Amino acid sequence: MTVTQIATAARGRWPVILPLLGITVPDNGRHGPCPHCGGDDRFRFDDMEGRGMWICSHCGNGDGLDLVKRVTGDDVKKAAQVVAQVLEFRDVQDMPVKPAKEKPRSAT
Ligand SMILES: [Zn+2]
Repeated sequence: MTVTQIATAARGRWPVILPLLGITVPDNGRHGPCPHCGGDDRFRFDDMEGRGMWICSHCGNGDGLDLVKRVTGDDVKKAAQVVAQVLEFRDVQDMPVKPAKEKPRSAT
């Protein structure tokens, strides 16, 4: 599988995938410690569009794959392989994919 295929397969499943990789993130929308650089409340996991999006005031922001990459120190291909392995776990397969969150619509 390519990195893009893995990222697509992981969509909507990051809240399950990340803990299985030992990466703890705060509840959706809450502030908490960054799994990469620590702190108390610098990190927020908003999982925008089901892509595992996150924001850290120290590290910047990225998607779920980017977070795995940072925490493990692997390159993106290796991180994607790790995610692909987790995606084969039954718990992840059984989990219903939640509908992607819509982006806030700008006022017209
Ligand atoms: Zn950070």
